[in-house]
Order: sequence, then C-alpha cells, then structure tokens
Amino acid sequence: MKKAVNNVVILGGGTAGWMAAAVLSKALSKINITLVESEQIGTIGVGEATIPSIHFFNDLLGINSSEFIKHTSGTFKLGIQFENWHKKDGAYFHAFGSTGLGMWAAGFHEYWQRGVELGISKPFETYNIEAVAAKRNKFAHQKGGLNFAYHLDASLYANMLKGVATKHGVTRVEGLVEQVTTDADSGYITGLTLKSGREISGDLFIDCSGFKGLLINETLKTEFVDWSHWLPMDRAIAVQTELTGNPVPYTRSIAHHAGWQWRIPLQHRMGNGIVYSSQYMSDDEAENMLLSTIKGKPITTPRPIKFVTGHRKKLWNKNCVAIGLAGGFIEPLESTAIHIIQQGIMQLLKYFPSYGINALETAQYNDYMISDYNEIKDFIILHYCQTQREDSPFWEFCKNMQIPESLKDRMTLFEQTGRFVQRKDEIFVDSWLQVMIGQGLIPKQHHPLADEMSEQELRQFLSQIENDHIQRVETIPTHTNYLSRITS
Ligand SMILES: Cc1cc2nc3c(=O)[nH]c(=O)nc-3n(C[C@H](O)[C@H](O)[C@H](O)COP(=O)(O)OP(=O)(O)OC[C@H]3O[C@@H](n4cnc5c(N)ncnc54)[C@H](O)[C@@H]3O)c2cc1C
Repeated sequence: MKKAVNNVVILGGGTAGWMAAAVLSKALSKINITLVESEQIGTIGVGEATIPSIHFFNDLLGINSSEFIKHTSGTFKLGIQFENWHKKDGAYFHAFGSTGLGMWAAGFHEYWQRGVELGISKPFETYNIEAVAAKRNKFAHQKGGLNFAYHLDASLYANMLKGVATKHGVTRVEGLVEQVTTDADSGYITGLTLKSGREISGDLFIDCSGFKGLLINETLKTEFVDWSHWLPMDRAIAVQTELTGNPVPYTRSIAHHAGWQWRIPLQHRMGNGIVYSSQYMSDDEAENMLLSTIKGKPITTPRPIKFVTGHRKKLWNKNCVAIGLAGGFIEPLESTAIHIIQQGIMQLLKYFPSYGINALETAQYNDYMISDYNEIKDFIILHYCQTQREDSPFWEFCKNMQIPESLKDRMTLFEQTGRFVQRKDEIFVDSWLQVMIGQGLIPKQHHPLADEMSEQELRQFLSQIENDHIQRVETIPTHTNYLSRITS
C-alpha cells in the first residue's frame, strides 16, 4: 500500500514557495503544510514582470486586480517593446491579445500579408489594440477590453501570498536547512534538519529552494537538461533606480551587442537589468554598460546573478516536486518564470498524491511541464535566431546557430506559406505571429481567402481596424491617471 500524503513540506519562501503555499493551503484544507525559509539566504529578488495567465492564479486566491496593484506597487503591462532585436535601431511591439480580425479560415496576418504585397499594410502592431494603447500610455479595465498583465515588486507579492497562506493554516518555519534525510530503500526524502537541530518530517517535499535545488539536485541528484548551446545567456545584473517620468504600461527589452537589458516600471521605482552571455561579455563590461545606460539615480547596489538555461529532467522525482528556479530556468525575455511556477502548482494540485505517489501520475506531470518548458525555449530562441544583426560575434552566433527541429519546422512553414500550426493548449498564441513578423520573418505567400477581397475592400478593412483601435484608445485614461485612481 502506497503512503498517503498528509504532510507537505515546502522548502523556500521566494515567489515559488509562497505561491505554492497559498494555493495548496486554500485548495486542500485537510493537508498540513509547513514552509521553511532562511533569512540568512534570502530570495533572488528579481522577477517583476508577468504574462496574463497570472489573472487565473490571482482569481483562485480571491485577489482582485486593484488589490494586487495596490499591494505590490504594481503597474499594468500591455506587452513588451523589443528594441534593436531584429536590426540595430529597429523596434516592434509584442502585445498581449490578438492582432486584427480573422475572417473564416484565414488569420488576420494572411490579409495583412496580402496588404504588404500591395504596399497598403502598416506595421503589424498598428492593428493590435493593446499595442496602440501601450504606445499612447493609456490603460483601463474595460468590459471586453484590453488584455494585460502586471509589473510588480516580487517581495511585496510574496508577502501578500504569505498572508493568504498563513490564514489558511500554513506553518512558517524560519531556519537554515543543513541536512536532508532520505529513506535507505526507496531514496524518498524523509526529513529536513535545521541548523538549530530542529527536524521537520513530511510525506511530500516541494523544492522551492532556488537555483541550487537543495532537494531535487543536491539530494536526489536529478539530471539537468542543459539548453545553453541554444541560449548562451548565463549572467544578469539587476539594479533599481528612481523613476524619472511616469511609468509606461509595458516592459522595454533593449538588445545590446552580447544580450539585452530590461526596464520594468513600478509605481515608485524602475527595475533595470542586463542579461548577457559570459562568453561574449565580461562582468565588468556588463556592469558599466548597465550603469551608464540607466536613467534615474540607483537606489540599490547592482546585484549579479549567475544562471544556466534548462530544466530538471524530472520536475517530480520520487516524493519531491521542484517548482520555481529549483526546477529550471529560461531567461526572463518573455517573463515566463512566474507562469511556469503557476503551471507547476496547478498540475501538482491536479495530480495531488492523496492516495500515494503513482508513477503514471508523476510521468504525466513531468510530460506536461516539460512540454511547457520546450514551447517557451523555442519561443525565446526565435527572438535571437531570426535577426538581421551580424554586428558582433554574439549576433553572428545567434544568426547562424543550429536551432531545434520543432522551431525550424514552424518558422519554415510560416515563411513559405504564411501558415502557423500549434498545440491546442500552448501558452503563446498570437504572440508567435507578432514576434515572427516583428523579427522580420515575413511569409512569401498568403491564404487564397485573402484574395477574395478586392484591393479597395482590403484597404477599407485594414483602415477600419486601425481607426477603431485609435478611437477606442482615445476614450480611455492615461496609465498614470488610471493607476492613481486605483491607488488613492
Ligand atoms: C535575472 C532574472 C530576471 C527575472 N525576471 C523575471 C520576470 O520578469 N518575470 C518572471 O516571471 N520571472 C522572472 N525571473 C524568475 C523569478 O525571479 C523566479 O522564478 C522567482 O522569483 C521564483 O524564485 P524561487 O522562489 O524559485 O527562488 P528564490 O527567490 O531564490 O527563493 C529561494 C528560497 O529558498 C530558501 N532557501 C534556499 N536554501 C535554503 C536552506 N538551505 N534552508 C532554508 N531555506 C533555504 C531561501 O531562503 C528562499 O526563501 C527572473 C529571474 C532572473 C534570474
């Protein structure tokens, strides 16, 4: 008889640990949950941009949008402006929400493509309402309105979640884990020993201990799938500055000769960082570049972070589930890490081992999570490999690198036919089109349905979408005004 799981131990009180604690305690009231964290180690202290799936998670916890914005010093995010990626001095917008209006079997991009051939289409983002609003610094919640996510202060979010979790009975233990005990026969983890000598036993352990993966890696020695040959970024430096203007409702991602920089505006400060590959840029050069390009006075000392892109081959191994950085990491270009944490928690809830741990269920969990990691990996590689840049050894590498077959197939089909295929439950939908087109991958053909419109009809169709968006955006407040309405 397999052992039923009644006692869950979460190791780590970063974003991952408190997100897991909040949802599991709310959903499973009969399970005992203990969370162990160490002030001595602290948290990673970055992770400030999200994608719209966060709404589903907050809804589950009963956190509404205004409450979230107030408590996390948050701002609204309509997408990401990519600067200097496709070419130096070029920019495009990846917005949440879909672009244009599809007709019958053909997507909007097919009509847009025909318009490109006729010389009547404007840049793709012209037909995306979130991009139009973002560029005009506008935002409002509206019925059937804008698709959005948030920028947030990660430590304030963790505090908010801590409140939810403790209200639902989670026991928080402060202390440094120095030893992990395992069962000699099964290899299952049986307990954690703290520096104070206190022992904490459990049936299921959730490893949210950050990059080192104290349980999944150091204890269970779970293999790591390393993707740095495709994504060679392995360093970041983060620094916060004072705000120099009003916060914009989008993230900026600015490419440089060996990686990129982020700008994430919160209500009272700006989050800045540089991401780079140590093969192509030294730490000193990166820090100098970051400090010489930020706007506003620094309010923290620059914080260096090392990472490797990839994931544990098994995210769930024996009685340990790794969530957050302990499970894997893909650089923050599309702000997907918090989303992956959510997925890990929701899948764990789905397969929660109340009747004992079952190999079929853990395999299912691992398959699901790994396909998410794979989709994100391909999507991120697209930003690098589809470029005209050749102005540095780094960009030469990106432009010429071998890419995964799954990505190659998608890009080739799109380029040759304008068709785009994807799994039903993929995270990014319209995003793929926006980034492929934004990065300069323009199809050679369009769907024959787009030829059913006369040139005049197509002209009208395109300008009507453009004008509708402009008019709708005119009626909504500025992002700054909207934020102050919510927070005052
Ligand atoms: C440069 C960078 C930028 C990022 N930007 C984004 C972004 O924009 N959007 C996004 O979604 N994600 C982003 N992320 C990812 C995001 O920061 C993390 O996914 C998220 O913060 C979760 O971290 P974590 O909780 O797994 O780990 P951590 O925050 O590192 O927490 C680890 C916890 O484990 C505890 N711990 C560790 N060892 C022990 C021990 N021995 N005893 C007791 N406690 C222990 C620590 O005290 C801490 O509480 C970014 C990451 C990086 C590196």
